[in-house]
Amino acid sequence: MELTFKAVDNVPLIQKGDDLADMIYRLADLHDNDIVVIASTIVSKSLGLTFYLSDVTPGEEAQRIARLNHKEPAFVQAVLDESLEVFVETPFMLVRNKNRHICINAGIDGSNVGGDRLLKLPENPDKHAANIGEKLEKLTGKKISVIITDTNGRAFKEGQTNVAIGLYKIKALRTWIGEKDLFGYVLEISEEAVVDEIAGAANLIMGEGANGYPVVIARGLNLYAPETAGITEFYRQEKDDVIVQGLLEIKNK
Ligand code: GDP
Ligand code: MN
Ligand code: MN
Ligand code: MN
Repeated sequence: MELTFKAVDNVPLIQKGDDLADMIYRLADLHDNDIVVIASTIVSKSLGLTFYLSDVTPGEEAQRIARLNHKEPAFVQAVLDESLEVFVETPFMLVRNKNRHICINAGIDGSNVGGDRLLKLPENPDKHAANIGEKLEKLTGKKISVIITDTNGRAFKEGQTNVAIGLYKIKALRTWIGEKDLFGYVLEISEEAVVDEIAGAANLIMGEGANGYPVVIARGLNLYAPETAGITEFYRQEKDDVIVQGLLEIKNK
């Protein structure tokens, strides 16, 4: 088995209004079953989701949390504006963003934007993955999947990895339930989160800095699935998530 990850070269600095599907079509030679992995940063830029802190007016809640965290009140307000729920407010803000994705600072990011502008995550990454994927499939006549990613920290370990935050025509999980291991033991709960694995691998090329590789093509997997759920289907319901329950207990003490 061979699996390749290839950067799309010559991607320009993305501006508001840029058509990402058109750009990828022109720069990449796409095959059937290719998975196009796209950094959310350029999706946000194409949507014009940049802003300045000087345009955000902090309320009392933002000022309170900002004092705790030694952050700018306007930054905290911007995070609150992008959040449905705050699970941890200090020493950093762990929130559920508008798309139900749980992450630090609602994914508001200043890297690779330029000037003192900040960037918000797209509100519905599945929708944008679908817009790009549908157009790429039409232009190429090929079966194409799309994963939109963002770099996130995680619990328990230092360091960040890329994760999937939006999907088009790809199965998020590869189920092993009912399969046998090497010794005939039948697997009962193993479901491999393949879209996060692909996102993580793609980030080996993307990096976090000036690499200039926001689009990576993963080839050699067979995960194309015409009828698939978006990423939000894989976010646990609050009542079923013991970690979230624990955080809420601490918060409400
Ligand atoms: P995020 O994880 O979605 O926040 O994206 P990053 O800021 O980590 O950037 C991921 C990759 O995309 C890095 O290789 C950046 O250099 C690259 N990148 C970000 N914006 C642009 C852009 O507008 N044009 C190009 N060519 N590369 C970009
Ligand atoms: Mn960034
Ligand atoms: Mn980011
Ligand atoms: Mn990144």
